[in-house]
Amino acid sequence: MKSVYCSFFGHNYVVTKKVTLHIHEYECTKCHTQMTTGSNGDLIPLTAKYKEINSVLEGVYKKRRSKRLEGLLVFEH
Ligand SMILES: [Zn+2]
Repeated sequence: MKSVYCSFFGHNYVVTKKVTLHIHEYECTKCHTQMTTGSNGDLIPLTAKYKEINSVLEGVYKKRRSKRLEGLLVFEH
């Protein structure tokens, strides 16, 4: 699904999901190639394996964040 536009101008990625503060999922608006943030901060293809890793990370991240919120609420009381 490579578009002529992309091979000419490069992909036009938009964030489709914020997995954690630093890891996002991207999709090209032109050819719908999906990418994600790799461990070194580069964009890497979003394969089924990385989708799985991201969903695990997302779960951990949300759990941690809600725990932190609970901590704040306890602190305020
Ligand atoms: Zn593209």
